[in-house]
Amino acid sequence: MMRKTVLSALTLSLGLSACTTSPLGRSQLSLFDSSEIDQQGQQAFEEYRQSHQQATGRDGKYVTCIADAIIDTLPEGQGPSKWTVGVYQDDEPNAFALPGGYVVINTGLMKVAKNQDQIATVVGHEMAHVLANHANERTSTQSLTSTGVGVVQSVTGSNALGQLLGAGAQYGVLLPYSRRQESEADLLGLDLMARAGFDPKASINLWQNMAAASQGEPPAWASTHPNNGARSEALEGRMQSAIKLSEQAHAAGHNPSCASLNS
Ligand SMILES: [Zn+2]
Repeated sequence: MMRKTVLSALTLSLGLSACTTSPLGRSQLSLFDSSEIDQQGQQAFEEYRQSHQQATGRDGKYVTCIADAIIDTLPEGQGPSKWTVGVYQDDEPNAFALPGGYVVINTGLMKVAKNQDQIATVVGHEMAHVLANHANERTSTQSLTSTGVGVVQSVTGSNALGQLLGAGAQYGVLLPYSRRQESEADLLGLDLMARAGFDPKASINLWQNMAAASQGEPPAWASTHPNNGARSEALEGRMQSAIKLSEQAHAAGHNPSCASLNS
């Protein structure tokens, strides 16, 4: 069954259209069944969960409150039917998302993201990777490079897609996202948090804090991300429309107040 997927992926690559459109209107290569990509995400999350301790106390409740506010105001019909957003014990200021709707925030990030709006920036960014099907795109693109084709040719049995998704990546989670995807996650994530009534201007502060926390050497999370100047500029370019979204959210009664949970 997996073999069939890989074969059809190759067939598609030979000329049939396998393009989808991202939420921001960018054309994407999507060779794989999203249900299979999601299943890989779920498996990777299960593995991760078994080796990491979840923070279920104050940090956990704080992030759950923020994530719920964003999930409640997602554009209709977008994304997985269920999201799993959690905080896990790890000092590195880092976060990641898995296809299928899994978002992991490290405890180390909670020290860098100083308020609910900055945390909402991170959660929005990670959810944006999921909503924009970046894992499928990245895996598809990679499968067409020489390395990827090697992987495709060598795979047999049920682990084919897992190898593609996980090749060389931590926890078999994902290939690193491309810079273009990271930029897209920044902008789409900004919309998502603003739509929930968070303050989009906090995104600029968050990335400044991240840069400061890295002390010259970018943390793993940031290394594939746009540099701070370019990132701020891109966010500024979308800020007016994000502020409008946030104001509309307030008018509609969306005034998230998760901060009290963390005082
Ligand atoms: Zn990212």
